[in-house]
Amino acid sequence: MKKLLFLFITVLFVQITKAQSTYILCGKLLDTKSGKIYNKKTIVVKENKIYKVIDGYVSPKSKTAVTIDLKDKVVMPGLIDMHVHIEKEFDKNTRLNNYILNEADVAYNSVGFAKSTLLSGFTTVRDLGGTGVNISIKKAINAGKIPGPRVFTAGKSLATTGGHADPTNGSSRKLIGNPGPKEGVVNSVEDAKKAVRQRYKNGADCIKITATGGVLSVAKSGDNPQFTIEEIKAICDTAKDYGMHVAAHAHGDEGMQRAIIGGVKTIEHGTYMSDETMELMKKHNAYLVPTITAGKEVAEKATVKGFYPAIVVPKALAVGPQIQGTFAKAYKKGVGIAFGTDAGVFKHGNNGKEFAFMVEAGMPAIETIQSATITNAMLLKMENELGQIQKGFFADIIAVNDDPTQNISTMENVVFVMKNGVVYKR
Ligand SMILES: [Zn+2]
Repeated sequence: MKKLLFLFITVLFVQITKAQSTYILCGKLLDTKSGKIYNKKTIVVKENKIYKVIDGYVSPKSKTAVTIDLKDKVVMPGLIDMHVHIEKEFDKNTRLNNYILNEADVAYNSVGFAKSTLLSGFTTVRDLGGTGVNISIKKAINAGKIPGPRVFTAGKSLATTGGHADPTNGSSRKLIGNPGPKEGVVNSVEDAKKAVRQRYKNGADCIKITATGGVLSVAKSGDNPQFTIEEIKAICDTAKDYGMHVAAHAHGDEGMQRAIIGGVKTIEHGTYMSDETMELMKKHNAYLVPTITAGKEVAEKATVKGFYPAIVVPKALAVGPQIQGTFAKAYKKGVGIAFGTDAGVFKHGNNGKEFAFMVEAGMPAIETIQSATITNAMLLKMENELGQIQKGFFADIIAVNDDPTQNISTMENVVFVMKNGVVYKR
């Protein structure tokens, strides 16, 4: 309660003073572009943008300006997670919840998820699928009604009948209906075009397809290909018309290859990616979003009796432990890596755990942070506004206690969060 009150007062205070300048005194400042850490810098924030970055500690001349002392912290731009599900957090009731929760219930739940995400230092996320409430969440956050990260959302994922994101998988025949493109289920090139246009109409920012089977759906295969290449091409071509990129959930190699050749920009999980597919990724300039944290989580929860439906357990035990090893191999081979966790499969706010898992698999700490800032900003076409602390960029600024290149687990404990010039955690 005390904590909440403090946060409220902080937010209120900063909102009142938002039009004034804020001087952030940084003991260390991580420059994501060069990968270097500089000592003693001052960031001047005006309204929601970075006005300038000055050498040394500079005090404001104006008496109305606010000074924030982060002299004993390491300051860096807000982090970007390319794979979250902002509406959802898996637990043993998830399957039942699909049938008993109304949209408003989902919306109220996700208010907390969005806040946890922001307070853990993730000031931007790409949301890869929910019921469509995620589009409303984005609007509410952008309008300043609830605290949360900037959201780029796919709305509802696209699947084929019985595929990983078919919303009535595992339902009784009475409830199964016949979901089509409007509900995100496609079975032809025509359906594919219609489904993409429907997402655009609904307010999505990008498209997500489930190119192969998946772990947590109530279906047998976790890795079979689920779209024809013609369907994937139709989705990618149509998405391009509307300025949207396509992300493909994929565990199996065949589905992954079809997705890459079809034109998707990111492969999510990439579990059984072959050497040949890694070369294909490089050739087509596609990026791997590793989601190692989710892999570890499903493998662990599969051992808890009753946590997942019985049909999910063998898939979780097979797929989960593979993900980190595949990431290690892909990184070594030079595949582009876009930081992403699949938060929602595990607790929102624990997104920062991914950094240590990536370092453990052989990626240098500084590159993991560049992946979560520079690379992801570029993929979202926000490279001139997000991912760096530079003049003219959005004032999305966070701080940690330690130098992450020496102690990567410090990324799991973000102690200061500013988004869009507003302080949310201090
Ligand atoms: Zn996911």
